[in-house]
Amino acid sequence: MSTQEKNIKISTINEVEQDKERNIQEEQIEQQTKQLEKQQTKQIREVLKIENVSKKYQAPNGEIEALKKIDFTLKEGEFLSIIGPSGCGKSTILSIIAGLENKDNGEIKIDGKIGYMLQKDSLLEWRTIYSNIMFGLEVQKNRTKENEEYAIQLLKKYNLYDFKDKYPNQLSGGMRQRAALIRTLAIKPKILLLDEAFSALDYQTRIMVTKDIYDILKNEHISALIVTHDISEAISMSDRIVILSNRPAQVKDIMKIEFEMENRDPINCRESPKFSEYFDAVWKGLNIYE
Ligand code: ADP
Ligand code: MG
Repeated sequence: MSTQEKNIKISTINEVEQDKERNIQEEQIEQQTKQLEKQQTKQIREVLKIENVSKKYQAPNGEIEALKKIDFTLKEGEFLSIIGPSGCGKSTILSIIAGLENKDNGEIKIDGKIGYMLQKDSLLEWRTIYSNIMFGLEVQKNRTKENEEYAIQLLKKYNLYDFKDKYPNQLSGGMRQRAALIRTLAIKPKILLLDEAFSALDYQTRIMVTKDIYDILKNEHISALIVTHDISEAISMSDRIVILSNRPAQVKDIMKIEFEMENRDPINCRESPKFSEYFDAVWKGLNIYE
């Protein structure tokens, strides 16, 4: 072998060695990145996990299949909307989570106390606002001095204290909804289920109230599961949207909603160009003619 040939051989061996080393380094970096990602996702606790949940109602004129293998999670501090056509099974999901209905199959894991808010604020017209809020604690058999004081604190913090002796029909729609929210918050929930909670309000009030409720829930570090059939409402309130099919409800897609803006809220995010992009994507995802 000539000297030149020898040199070529050595340099080839060196290149192979260098390649090997590079590969090992790249693999190490990849593994480290994966581990970091794993740690990060682990750090965000799941407060609600719905796995493979199915439900059929036994109605007089036959079986109604409402839910088919529903799967999703709610992370701590997250706002997750469930959107789907009317009658597809949205309320059924919340009723099962709240323990008001049985499921046929699947698992539900809940980590934290649950509060429930409905479309009708269900304030009792013959009780004052204060007495309505106390009623919430009474139903839960939780009317302690400490909880009463906490409820008063909430009334003051969210500007309803001056209205505590008024009756529900003396309050605007928005204030009634805030009072209903405070009644729910007084039981110190970690997870709030909202079932079309704003749909009874007129358009402008609804937008103001969604911001109002959004701010209060973020401030109180509550995770929210929001059922709605309103695409704009879902986008404006949520970190992720679960899109359901027609009945029996199946998860068609789970869409992440992110706006690159500081202090995003349900009103200012509507100004982002991404808002209409998300609207189109959810609309297409729903594809109600399918
Ligand atoms: P959504 O909230 O999406 O409008 P629901 O969860 O209320 O839908 O209802 C899903 C389907 O199950 C509907 O067809 C509804 O009529 C039916 N359903 C709901 N509750 C009951 C019940 N208690 N008994 C029988 N059928 C029911
Ligand atoms: Mg419903």
